[in-house]
Amino acid sequence: MFEISAENFSVWKKKQLLKGGDKKSFSLLIDLLGGLSKKELNSLTIKAEKNLKFKLDLDSLEFFWGKHLSTNIPIQYLSGICYWRNLKLEVSDKVLIPRPETELVVEIISRKFDNNKGQIIFADLGTGSGAISISLALENPSWNGIATDINKNAVEIASRNFANNSNQSNLKFYSGNWWEPLTYLKGEIDFAVANPPYIPKNTYEELPIEVKNFEPKNALLGGEDGLDHVREIVKYAPLYLKEKGWLLIENHFDQGARVKQLFIENQFTDVEVLKDLSGIGRFTIGRYK
Ligand code: GLN
Repeated sequence: MFEISAENFSVWKKKQLLKGGDKKSFSLLIDLLGGLSKKELNSLTIKAEKNLKFKLDLDSLEFFWGKHLSTNIPIQYLSGICYWRNLKLEVSDKVLIPRPETELVVEIISRKFDNNKGQIIFADLGTGSGAISISLALENPSWNGIATDINKNAVEIASRNFANNSNQSNLKFYSGNWWEPLTYLKGEIDFAVANPPYIPKNTYEELPIEVKNFEPKNALLGGEDGLDHVREIVKYAPLYLKEKGWLLIENHFDQGARVKQLFIENQFTDVEVLKDLSGIGRFTIGRYK
């Protein structure tokens, strides 16, 4: 632990912020690498006489801040940690940093299943860091989840994240392409969720450096129109879902109508495009027949 007066820290903080970058990234760095929460950081001015304790000395924190500013590497990859809902998750450049808008997936599913205490079987396809499936499994101990990812590193990270956030055993992780590892559950899945790569090729080329240069391309790029993976997931869903089982897919801001159409073409009913907190039709949901 490194101790420094709040006053000296404030002087140092000002100096760092003058170098550039945004306040949000700075407080994330101080939290994830320094060990001082955003709340503590924000209450500094009223407690200037206080001594603060850090996990790293200010020179090291300054080094990491400089690295973030010069390369645009996200703080989450620098620290190997991110926050998502109430979870603290390990991340690396092998997995997408889970986005705040995706947090709503858990709320939508919870509402649909109305905290069903039965033995629901669910799948999370392309789980990445495991964020969605871990939240669902933790909040619903009677449910059994299977999360898949084509990337073995992602499966390892997601498994560790589940172990580190719980002592439950109601979630399994398998490596494979979308539904592929689930052949033993054909026709038995109550609902499946996926946040597949959906960025169209042209948009991908224009993504901000912090995304394009660091986040895994195969977790973002969805082919020419962004819908390559969505088409595959929807096409095979009828083989794996129970009759009346649900499928929820996150999509890009302007894909809702097209994804809805794909669901309908594949015999889904009750298809709806639900909005995220910015009012964007972000989640397409429907049930098989
Ligand atoms: N929402 C992510 C972004 O805009 C994309 C995630 C995805 O392709 N599934 O960067």
